[in-house]
Amino acid sequence: MAISTKIKELHALLPQGVTLVAVSKFHPIEALNEAYKAGQRIFGESRVQELLVKHETMPKDIEWQMIGHLQTNKVRQIVPFVSLIQSVDSVRLAECINREAERIGRVVDILLEIHVAQEESKTGWKYDELVDYLQSGAMAELKNIRVRGIMGMATNTDDKEVIRHDFERLAECKRQLASHFGEEFDTLSMGMSDDYALAIECGSTMVRIGSSIIGNRY
Ligand SMILES: *Cc1c(COP(=O)(O)O)cnc(C)c1O
Repeated sequence: MAISTKIKELHALLPQGVTLVAVSKFHPIEALNEAYKAGQRIFGESRVQELLVKHETMPKDIEWQMIGHLQTNKVRQIVPFVSLIQSVDSVRLAECINREAERIGRVVDILLEIHVAQEESKTGWKYDELVDYLQSGAMAELKNIRVRGIMGMATNTDDKEVIRHDFERLAECKRQLASHFGEEFDTLSMGMSDDYALAIECGSTMVRIGSSIIGNRY
């Protein structure tokens, strides 16, 4: 199906209050342009180099989000323009983003990535460690980041019950963490091409969809 058709279909299908992030990693500018022409303005990338090139090349009214693992030595390059960093999974990274944002006089929106999946390999905070950090009060000192919510991924499996369990756990984490933050803590980013419908059932407010819009990556 054409990219533009897919984008329009998704925009029609997603309930109000659910934001579509088009995940454009590994796809050429032409594919992104097609999505742009169909009205898509929010794009997610998982690699800094690609994010930089695409941000340079594409129209300026796009909101660029970082969704992949972010190394602290690359933070400086994206902080000036990125609209949301979804993959904040350590104290070191949060502090680094805060420092770079402060240096240029910006406040950067972030999500806290929480690990709930069964695979060891996936990134993200262990929930208990995140709670300890928040209770220390240290995060509240980081005035140049604004925590908008959490991001997570379900276990990579075909078993819907396992996936549902992971999404419900993420939704529960978000509810429990809300007391540490203000009203701006409103985002629950979960759901990808294969599982976004289930994620929405479980309360997702932001879905990150790549392959089912733009086709398979190479
Ligand atoms: C690639 C990626 C997605 C999109 O996955 P699809 O299965 O292609 O929809 C979503 N979130 C993250 C963090 C990703 O790396």
